[in-house]
Amino acid sequence: MKDNRCLHEIALRKGTWVKFICGASNEDLTSITDLCAVYAAAGVNCIDLAADVAVINAAREGLNWAENKLGVKPWLMVSVSDGTDIHFRKAFFNPQICPKDCSRPCEKICPTNAINIKDGIVEDLCYGCGRCLPICPFQFITEKNHRLAIENFGDLISKTKPDAVEIHTAPGRIKAFENAIQSILESKVPLKRIAVSCGLEGHGISKDQLSQELWSRHQCLRRYSQKPIWQLDGRPMSSDIGVGTSRAAIKLLHNMRSIAPPGPLQLAGGTNQQTICHLDKKNEVAGIAFGGIARKLIQPFLIEAKIKNKKLIEWPEGWEQALKVAKELINPWLEKKFPQD
Ligand code: SF4
Ligand code: SF4
Repeated sequence: MKDNRCLHEIALRKGTWVKFICGASNEDLTSITDLCAVYAAAGVNCIDLAADVAVINAAREGLNWAENKLGVKPWLMVSVSDGTDIHFRKAFFNPQICPKDCSRPCEKICPTNAINIKDGIVEDLCYGCGRCLPICPFQFITEKNHRLAIENFGDLISKTKPDAVEIHTAPGRIKAFENAIQSILESKVPLKRIAVSCGLEGHGISKDQLSQELWSRHQCLRRYSQKPIWQLDGRPMSSDIGVGTSRAAIKLLHNMRSIAPPGPLQLAGGTNQQTICHLDKKNEVAGIAFGGIARKLIQPFLIEAKIKNKKLIEWPEGWEQALKVAKELINPWLEKKFPQD
C-alpha cells in the first residue's frame, strides 16, 4: 500500500487540496464513520473533526476501512478554538415548557433532525448551525458554549495523534492563540500543518485588520516552527442554505490574497458546488473545505442505511450511490476542471 500522505502537500502546492469538514460540534458517531469513509474514498486530502476522542475514534473506523479497501489515507485534522466561536456551540431548550399547540418551527428548520418533541435537542446531532435560535416565537432556544479548554488541547492531541490541527481564532486573541499553540505542542505529536481559521463576518474589522491578525499568527507559528494553512472562513456554516453563499468565501479570498501572510490559502464557509465557477484563475487558491453541503448530500443515504439497520459501508448499493455524489462535489477541485474548460 502506497503512503500517499506527501500527496497532500503536493495538492496544497498545485491548488487541488480538498478538505471535508465533518464538523467542529458534530458528534453523531454513527454518521461520522460513514461520512469519513465516503469522503476518504472520494479522494479528499484531509478530514476535519470535532476535538473529541469518541468522534475521532469513529472517524478512524471509517478511515481505516477506506485505507484497507482503497489505499487512501487523508490527513486527520482536529479542530479547536482559542476562544468563543460559533463553530463550537450547541443549541438548547427545555421541551417541558413548550406550549402543546406550538407548530414546532424549530423542528422543521433543523438540517440534521436534531430536534424532537421528547428530547428537545439531541446534542450529538446538533452541530451548532444556529438556524433554530431565532425561530422560536417564545425565544426558548439558547446556545451553549461547547469547546475544549485550551489547557486540555495537549492531552487530546496526545491521545488522538492527528496529522494536523486547526485553530479557530478571532481578532484580539493572539495571546490565546499562542497559549493554544503551546498547549498543542506539549503533546510532542509531530504535525504536518496547523490550519488557522478566521474570517471577517461577525468581527467588525476591515480586511487590513484581518491581515494584521493573520500576520501576527504567522509570526507565532514561525517561532514554534509550524507550517500554516490559512482557512478563509467566508460565511460560516451556510453552504447548505443555497448556492449564493459561495460568493462570501470568494470575496474574502479576493480581499486577502495580496495581503495575507505566506502559506496556502484555503476557502471555507459557504463553499458549495458553485464556488469553483467564481474563481478568476485556476491557481489563485490552494484548495477548499466543504462542510454542511458535503454532509447534506450524503444525509439521504445515511438515513436509508439507518432504516436498514446498517452502516453505509455495509450496504454496497447505497455506498456506490453515495460515493458517486461525493465525487461529483469534489472532483472538479481534485482535477481542477472548470465548467467553462
Ligand atoms: S438547527 Fe442547527 S443549532 Fe439548532 S438544533 Fe439543529 S443543528 Fe443544532
Ligand atoms: S418553536 Fe419554541 S416553543 Fe415551539 S417547540 Fe420549538 S422551542 Fe418549543
